[in-house]
Amino acid sequence: MADKILSGIPVSTGIAIGKAFFVNRNHKAHLPRHTVSAAMMDAEVARLHDAFAAVEAELTAIREQVPADLRDYGLLIDTHVLMLKDPKLSGVAEEYIRTLGLNCAWALEKAVADQEAAFGAVHDPYIRERMQDVRVVADKVQAKLIGRETDLTAIPGRVIIMAHDLTPADTVEIQVSRIMGFATVRGGKTSHTGIMARSMGIPALVGVDMLEDVVHDGDLVVIDGLTGKIVVNPTEAELEDYNERAAHFEDYTLKIKRGCQLPAETYDGSRVQVLANIELVEEIPAALDNGAEGVGLYRTEYAYLNRTDLPGEDELAEKYIDLAAILSPRKVVFRTLDLGADKFISAFGELNETNPAMGLRAIRFCLRNPELFKSQLRAILRASAYGNVSLMFPMISGVKEVRQAKAWLAQAKAELRREGVDFNPEMPVGIMIELPSAVMIADFLAREVDFFSIGTNDLIQYSIGVDRTNHHVSYLYQPLHPATLRTIKLVVDAAHQAGIEVSLCGEVASDPFCVPILLGMGIDSLSLTPQAIPGIKRIIRQTNMHDCRKLLRKVLECRTVSRINGLVMDNIFKSFPDEVTFFSSLLENDESPS
Ligand code: PEP
Ligand code: MG
Repeated sequence: MADKILSGIPVSTGIAIGKAFFVNRNHKAHLPRHTVSAAMMDAEVARLHDAFAAVEAELTAIREQVPADLRDYGLLIDTHVLMLKDPKLSGVAEEYIRTLGLNCAWALEKAVADQEAAFGAVHDPYIRERMQDVRVVADKVQAKLIGRETDLTAIPGRVIIMAHDLTPADTVEIQVSRIMGFATVRGGKTSHTGIMARSMGIPALVGVDMLEDVVHDGDLVVIDGLTGKIVVNPTEAELEDYNERAAHFEDYTLKIKRGCQLPAETYDGSRVQVLANIELVEEIPAALDNGAEGVGLYRTEYAYLNRTDLPGEDELAEKYIDLAAILSPRKVVFRTLDLGADKFISAFGELNETNPAMGLRAIRFCLRNPELFKSQLRAILRASAYGNVSLMFPMISGVKEVRQAKAWLAQAKAELRREGVDFNPEMPVGIMIELPSAVMIADFLAREVDFFSIGTNDLIQYSIGVDRTNHHVSYLYQPLHPATLRTIKLVVDAAHQAGIEVSLCGEVASDPFCVPILLGMGIDSLSLTPQAIPGIKRIIRQTNMHDCRKLLRKVLECRTVSRINGLVMDNIFKSFPDEVTFFSSLLENDESPS
């Protein structure tokens, strides 16, 4: 048996096998704690400020190397530099040196603890993120004070990086070619770390508890980005098994990548558009390289997070114009702000909602804050003059909301027209179908817009009543629930009866077990995470509509998820044995009684 097997959240697929190399350990455990005499206090204070200044200088130097197209990362480094310049943290630490006689690393730890205590009870994710930034900055200063810095530019050979956290500044500094994979204690699926790993195309896990206690520098580790496991010091047999799996996965990715630029067309000639879901402009090369025909969901929230102010219309327009122009003539669908629920911005403070997922989020939040909404609408319209731009509103619950949102859009158009600013007056406008109420009146809604995009991540959450982030009930989060399938079919049929197109942009679009059923329903396009595009295109190209419709008819008659799972497994097994090997973990959690 291996020394230990840890679990984390897989954020980038693949298998990496190599030596562990720690960077950015949590310094708390090694922090020297002693007092200094009154005579030494001035020197200790000077040491503290010197360390702050040195880290600031280092980050400023890294900032200068950030390529222009990684602007968001640059902005984050700016935030860290501002925190270092801000006398709040260093000032409180200095006070602890002078009043309690603490050594500087300890004094700084106490200053951070004060801030954590002051903000610890605040649930606002923005504040929590800012606290994480304070921690990151303090860690860097402490590492300098106690001489435990890792020189990220001097990573030896090809290694697997283990870290408490990896900041954007770190990822800029690390030479990507030296990393085979990484694992961190902090981070979630949509954290920077996850996004970076996916765009670098290396296996990665985040949220790995106990990583720093169990893994040591030089340990042989396996990072399994398919199942979310880290195997520490595997046995010969385990190593052989993982080597085989890694080789198999590499063959598989090469094989599917070869055909990824071909159109997603079934054997019998039905065409489906396959588009990418992205959060950052930097993800475009990976998306196109994986065969995306455009961007079906651009999550615009990202530009509003990780900062203390609101982005202005010009800043947004510049970013959006880049995106539209780079992708042109391919299409890009801008989703208007989906703030609220788990994504807050500081300018609006905490809303104090008991149930934020059902609270003032997405379109509700925008309609409550029309100035913010309008500046985004104007920026999207401005970008529409530079490419194939569409816009969609998230979390629509009824007809009135669509009309209100469109009224703001009309006003933005009128203003731009008056100002003589170019835009596409025919820019297609759609809505996301994410709520059961929208499903039930999909026929009415279809008459108000140019297209639908089904957001199954939320739609499943709201129709089955299962929090998409709560692992206690994750077994109930079922794309193949008979209700989910009926729900999706209702929307597709309503759209087609009204003569509009319908896309699906939730995670279901990258689920190989669901895609044949979606094809059978006649879905017009799928929008998914770039990494999954080659595999999904392969499935589409090797199937035919006749079989998909037959499969759909059969699954619609099934009353239980297990029965449907059985049918889709049979279907995939027959045609795609490789997919079963790599994706059967998707079905592993089926413990539901339904
Ligand atoms: C969805 O809900 O399916 C979706 C694509 O939106 P998000 O995951 O950003 O909520
Ligand atoms: Mg959603």
